[in-house]
Amino acid sequence: MHPRTLLCERCGYVLDGLDIDAPAAACPECGTAIFASLPERRPGTPWQRSPGFVGWCGATWRALRSPGAMFRGASVRAADRVLLLINTLLGAGLIAGGIALALVDLFPLPMGRPYLQTDPRSLPIALWLFFPLWVLLLALSEVERRGVVFFSRRRRWRVTLDIGMMAVAHAGVGWIIGGLLFAILARWPDTRWLLGGTSDVALWNLMFDAHLPIAPFAGWLVGLMVFEVLVYVAVRRCRFANMPRGKNGSGA
Ligand SMILES: [Zn+2]
Repeated sequence: MHPRTLLCERCGYVLDGLDIDAPAAACPECGTAIFASLPERRPGTPWQRSPGFVGWCGATWRALRSPGAMFRGASVRAADRVLLLINTLLGAGLIAGGIALALVDLFPLPMGRPYLQTDPRSLPIALWLFFPLWVLLLALSEVERRGVVFFSRRRRWRVTLDIGMMAVAHAGVGWIIGGLLFAILARWPDTRWLLGGTSDVALWNLMFDAHLPIAPFAGWLVGLMVFEVLVYVAVRRCRFANMPRGKNGSGA
C-alpha cells in the first residue's frame, strides 16, 4: 500500500479517485465521511506543533490524560526522533540515579556522611550507568517501532516507520514513569513519605529489609506497561492515517 494513497481512516478503504470534495462524500465501504479521513484532520500533537519545552509538557500531559484523542490528531510526517531522545534520556537518567544512590547506600564510606545523597561517588556511578541505559531504552524503542510496523503489515494496516517513530516517541512518557518509579523505590527509605507514613507499607519495607531489589524493577515494569499501552493506542489511532499532501498535490 503506497504511503500517499488516501485511505478511509476507519476501515482502510482506498478513497483515491473518488470525488473527495463533494460535500456529502462518504466512504463506500463504511459510510464514514471522507473529510474525516483527510490529513488536515491531523493537526499534530502538542510536540509536533511546537517542539520545545511547552510542546513536551503538552504531549506528556495529553499522553497520560487523553492519549486516544491526541493520537487521533497526530500528524504522520513529522519527525519525532528528538522527542524520543528526550524521553529516553530522562528515563535512563532516573534509573541511573536510583541505582547509583542505592549502591553508595549499600557500601557506605568509612567516614559515614550524614546524607548519602552528597556521597561524591554517586555522580560518577550514575554517569557511567546512564549511557548504556540510554542506549538500552533507545534500542527497546527501536525494536518496538519495527515490531509494530511488522505486525501492522500482517493486519493489513498501513503503519509506516514514521508512524512507528511517532508512536514510540510519544509513548516514551512510559520510560519516564518507569524511571521515576524505579528511582523512588530504589530510594525507598528516603521516599516512603510519598505514601504518607510507614504503617501501610510493610510489604515494601520487607522487600528492602531482605535486600531484594524487586520493588524498583516492578516499578520500572509499570512504566514499560504504560509505554506498551500508549504505543498500542497510537498505532490503533493511526493505522490508516494519511500523510499531508503537498500544496501542489505532488506530495513534496
Ligand atoms: Zn471506510
